Amino acid sequence: MTTDPRRQVPRTDALLSEPRLAAAAERLGRELVKSAVQAVQQRIRDGVTAPADAVDAVLRDLPATASSLRPVLNATGVLVHTNLGRAPLSEASVEAVVAASGTTDVELDLVTGRRGPRGEGAAAALLAAVPAAEAAIVVNNCAAALALVATALGHGKELVLARGELVEIGDGFRIPELLASTGARLREVGTTNRVTLEDYRSAVGPQTGAVLKVHPSNFVVRGFTRSVEVAELAPALAGSGVPLIADLGSGLLGPHPALPGEPDLQSALAGGADLVLASGDKLLGGPQAGLVLGRAELVQHLRRHPLYRALRVDKSTLAALEATLRGPLPPVQTMLAAGLEELRARAAALVATLTAAGLDAVAVGSTARVGGGGAPEFPLPSAAVSLPAAFAEPLRLGSRPVVGRVEGDRTVLDLRSVLPRDDEAVGAAVLEVARRWT
Ligand SMILES: *Cc1c(COP(=O)(O)O)cnc(C)c1O
Repeated sequence: MTTDPRRQVPRTDALLSEPRLAAAAERLGRELVKSAVQAVQQRIRDGVTAPADAVDAVLRDLPATASSLRPVLNATGVLVHTNLGRAPLSEASVEAVVAASGTTDVELDLVTGRRGPRGEGAAAALLAAVPAAEAAIVVNNCAAALALVATALGHGKELVLARGELVEIGDGFRIPELLASTGARLREVGTTNRVTLEDYRSAVGPQTGAVLKVHPSNFVVRGFTRSVEVAELAPALAGSGVPLIADLGSGLLGPHPALPGEPDLQSALAGGADLVLASGDKLLGGPQAGLVLGRAELVQHLRRHPLYRALRVDKSTLAALEATLRGPLPPVQTMLAAGLEELRARAAALVATLTAAGLDAVAVGSTARVGGGGAPEFPLPSAAVSLPAAFAEPLRLGSRPVVGRVEGDRTVLDLRSVLPRDDEAVGAAVLEVARRWT
């Protein structure tokens, strides 16, 4: 008998010249397709895959794009999830990125044919959204904005910072260590739980480069506490020539009715901060970026600093940021605004589909979070689909990965962090898992 499949492994070049795989190689690159071919050949040798299925098996294994990053449906209930790439971009923003991704007029004035200012559109959109700012620049992320500020204003000088604001953001990243790494000396004031205006006053002198306020984005201190807000600190520093810098982290442009405790760029500047710093991919809902807004002379000083060149953003970030600011509300904002009734109705509709297929699915109440260092402990009422815990792993490993939360013996798929247009895909992913089990 010669039916041993191991003897009939199709040859690599034969597979690669098969029209469907040749087309895939055009799109994804030959190396990627070749390694998928080799994996399938091995499976044929192992007797797991039939030789006749080789081409289909390779096509099934191929990634959708030439990048290993895969789209994931975020059903964690954490709207800005750092492990899932933080804010999903709006469609307007994605279109802008695609349009700018070729050669583009990022630094050319098409009218005069001469070099033009880079990132002017994004800066103008920021100024339109935050009228209290005189000027704005965009760097790689908020950590880069802090590094630039500390280097340009604090090098060889002191940065005055409250002890209660020596924040670790996550993954071992500590803001005081970043500041110190630039050569600035930190002058800590107050205690962990309390700092007064007098503490700041007595620390400021000719050696002071700046006074820095860092928003405690991911924790709260309760009880016997006292902090000094921007609006209180600014008048005390007025006339001293010492700039007041506020790192707000979350990137809200103005006050948000649903997040009363969260600081925003406009209010901090109106309250007297000279510069405000924020991330682009948290509550703002845009691309990864560090936003620096405030007094023109200080922004100009940062722009001229040599380090700025190492921290500036590329054309896709500028395009995505401008479209986030000028276009329709980005997903993070619509998720934040979603009504509980609407979320419950979506959960009920999904559950109806799943129970009709015989699954153990229940609509439950849930509590979502902003995440990503925004509004810590601020619960967002939500609705979810509850499934047996065994669904969690296969859902993550499916063709369209879904990440939920495991709570006790249940997998909870929170719909506040899912766009309504993706509900169907979430349902399809659950059904796919169930089908594989039967
Ligand atoms: C998140 C955060 C940062 C870091 O922002 P990245 O954009 O991730 O670099 C800095 N400061 C505060 C207060 C934050 O919340």
